[in-house]
Amino acid sequence: MPLIEFTDRGLYCPQGDFYIDPWRPVDKAVITHAHSDHARAGSRSYLCHHLTRPLLELRLGDFPYQSVEWGESVFLNGVRVSLHPAGHIIGSSQIRVEYKGEVWVVSGDYKTENDGLSGAFEPVPCNVFITESTFGLPIYNWKPQAEIFRSIQDWVVKNNAAGKTAVLVAYSLGKAQRLLSCLAAVSPAIFVHGAVWNVHQALVKAGVVLPPVQRVELDAPKESFRSSVVIAPSGADESPWIRRFHPFEVGVCSGWMQVRGNVRRRNADAGYALSDHADWKGLLSAVKATGAEKVYVTHGFQAALSRYLNEQGIEAAEVKTEYGEDEEGAASQTEGGGLTEKADLTERGGSAEEGDLAEREGLAEREGLAEGGGLAEREMIPGPERGIPVQEEMPDISKDGVDDLMID
Ligand SMILES: [Zn+2]
Ligand SMILES: [Zn+2]
Repeated sequence: MPLIEFTDRGLYCPQGDFYIDPWRPVDKAVITHAHSDHARAGSRSYLCHHLTRPLLELRLGDFPYQSVEWGESVFLNGVRVSLHPAGHIIGSSQIRVEYKGEVWVVSGDYKTENDGLSGAFEPVPCNVFITESTFGLPIYNWKPQAEIFRSIQDWVVKNNAAGKTAVLVAYSLGKAQRLLSCLAAVSPAIFVHGAVWNVHQALVKAGVVLPPVQRVELDAPKESFRSSVVIAPSGADESPWIRRFHPFEVGVCSGWMQVRGNVRRRNADAGYALSDHADWKGLLSAVKATGAEKVYVTHGFQAALSRYLNEQGIEAAEVKTEYGEDEEGAASQTEGGGLTEKADLTERGGSAEEGDLAEREGLAEREGLAEGGGLAEREMIPGPERGIPVQEEMPDISKDGVDDLMID
């Protein structure tokens, strides 16, 4: 019997009777990280890292949580389970599962570059490695964080000198925190959207040291944002919420910005290929470092990565999961053309990012990108002129503060 099975509820360990990042409610869920596609409400108990816990409390509400430190072992039905740094976002962990001398590791989402905040990715030797593949194509090749940060800083300084507000679009959990040290170096005040604020507060309360931010108050005079820097989640830049920063420029921070044309298509003034996922080389180095004799490839470019690994003599197979609906993963679905139904997403509880996704789906539809649309095809579609799109439908209200978007 394999140590982990792929079931319709998620990755299941029959010997230990627990699931890893299940997408349906289960008795015992082990959670890699707090992004909405990996951590879902409704299970009877949760095991996660100490720093994931406050984020689950914020996003999922009150459930029985048990949290552990990296490297600490917990025995579930005699199966040894431990969490190891994945380097993706704060608290993100790979799950190591050991039983009768056999070891499987589930990567969750990960990145191999140390961002100074999320913990350094730890290669964990194993027999079987289950890896994500969000950016599993050779075209995804990140520049070092320090270099990207310098570009962002130059852009902020340039805009502020011209009397403009610099609005950076970044995922509210992960990239928003990662940007703070970069921005604090060039800006005395960092304003954040309510969704970013809520995450920030939860982390600070849990003891994480982050540069201070100010919430964008809805009744604040517009002048107070003049020549400042603002962090907003995806979707906010397409809503009337952003008008208060006029005059402003929008910079999008996402791995997808590596593809020429996505900046324009995203209606942005600037794009930075800053990702919380491993690039192609990172994925390959991580897989090799585990020494695994068998690799399962999940959410992303499974086919490309598993084919390449097989060619390299590493036995690999693709596995379909329901992950990949966080900001960057969702974009991959858009690129592949298969968008998830909007209703489907909001029913699952409407987190900020799900609202964002619905929001961007709407945008994709308006641009006629929802159907078909592989990478090459999308390349040729001209982007719309810069402007503030009219809001047709607002994202769901959520605990993460997307309700800010409802006002104005
Ligand atoms: Zn994630
Ligand atoms: Zn993921």
